[in-house]
Amino acid sequence: MGKKYLKVLFVASECAPIAKVGGLGDVIGSLPKALKKLRVDLRIAIPKYKGIDFKKHLFKIIAKKIKVGKSFVNIYQGFLPGSKVILYLLENKKYFGENGIYFERGAFVGSFREIQRFLFFSQAILEIFENLNWFPQIIHCHDWHTAIAPLLLKIKTKNKKPKTLLTIHNLANQGEWRAKKILDFLNLKGDEIDSLKIRDKRKKLNILAQGILNTDFLNTVSKTYSQEILTKKYGEDLEKILSKRKKDLFGILNGIDQDRFNPKACLNLKVNYSVSNLNQKRENKIDLQKILKLSQNQNFPLFSLIGRLTSQKGIDLIAKIVPDLVNSGCQLIILGVGERKYENKLLKLAKKYQRNVSVQIKFDPVLAQKIYAGSDFFLMPSRFEPCGLGQLIAQRYGTIPIGRKTGGLADTIEQDKTGFLFKEYKAGAFLRVIRKALKFYQNEKEWKKLIKRAMKKDFSWKKSAKEYLKLYNKLIA
Ligand code: ADP
Repeated sequence: MGKKYLKVLFVASECAPIAKVGGLGDVIGSLPKALKKLRVDLRIAIPKYKGIDFKKHLFKIIAKKIKVGKSFVNIYQGFLPGSKVILYLLENKKYFGENGIYFERGAFVGSFREIQRFLFFSQAILEIFENLNWFPQIIHCHDWHTAIAPLLLKIKTKNKKPKTLLTIHNLANQGEWRAKKILDFLNLKGDEIDSLKIRDKRKKLNILAQGILNTDFLNTVSKTYSQEILTKKYGEDLEKILSKRKKDLFGILNGIDQDRFNPKACLNLKVNYSVSNLNQKRENKIDLQKILKLSQNQNFPLFSLIGRLTSQKGIDLIAKIVPDLVNSGCQLIILGVGERKYENKLLKLAKKYQRNVSVQIKFDPVLAQKIYAGSDFFLMPSRFEPCGLGQLIAQRYGTIPIGRKTGGLADTIEQDKTGFLFKEYKAGAFLRVIRKALKFYQNEKEWKKLIKRAMKKDFSWKKSAKEYLKLYNKLIA
């Protein structure tokens, strides 16, 4: 075709399956494949964490001792597994060498160590192009972890400035710390650019806010959420700053890797199934009940939740409805890691209702797939939800989502058609919609229809990747 490929670099803290904590990792591990198919020269850079399994993933060192501030990075190059997407790992023992991606159970910033880790990573990004012999036209930043990069580009890079896009996956996690510490670390005085004078309400410097103000374009991961965040209720105190950028703010829905999440081929299931042999799905349910030592009965409605156990995910509502759920003859499985208070509350309930409630406090992608396949219902009573992947994966496996009508849940669950939604963040409203969903479950014909519709939905990246490409083209126009 002779047409030049658009060069885009993703910079992020996670990338599945190499380094993942939540949905961000899934997106960074799958959207690039779809963009590559659209002929974008898409590459990814993440820190080289200690936990990355070098026996499983092949990387070779391509550059050593590149100066970044007072320290150095080495660059490793490999591929995003199952693709030809180039993945760079930036190595620095001091900042990335400790185990784990984040330092807190809830994945929210809780220490300056973590702020430093990602400030350093963002600085490093801007120093590597010469060594790669590859200059991106666009740097696509994700969340607060790399949100300082647009600002650094503005004040530190002299020539050849790439454009920037900042995708906000989680507005609540903003990366704030004492301004002086951040500025000192970056070797800035604080008057280099107007935005740097802004402090949040606790007089801290807010890295995500700096990203929002300095990036060329920004987006969130669903249309509804991109509008919600302009309001006080959902703006996480950044609504005013976001409103300043309203005309450059877009909403592009996340997709999922439909090859990885595929009930027909997934190797982790007891039995594979598709819309044409739905009865096989039940065998996965029995298998799941057996593995988790629940009473085995294929007729018990089986509910599940997989996710970070944090206030965002509505875990307090879940805890409130458990007795009602069990008393109506239902079972519940929860898989997640998060805040201790929620973990303990749920574990207590699991102990009380041993044969009908199982709570698994761990990160376990294999068990997750068994749960997506073996359950009847998937619960997502989130307070807010930028996109949410759980409800997409669940539908792919013919498991009917019940979610709060907010953000991406509102955009991807079709009321009474592929799932169920409730509006008011109250246990009563949640229970009402659960009872309604159970009525569908009891009518086999209606239930199958629901499952088939859910399974047939296209949640691949195809459509959204095209929207990103459009945005990239607009950005460099
Ligand atoms: P968020 O990005 O807010 O954490 P999402 O619903 O967008 O939530 O994505 C969460 C992703 O992480 C899903 O793929 C979900 O299956 C996965 N996940 C979350 N917790 C666990 C866990 N404990 N074990 C396995 N997978 C998990």
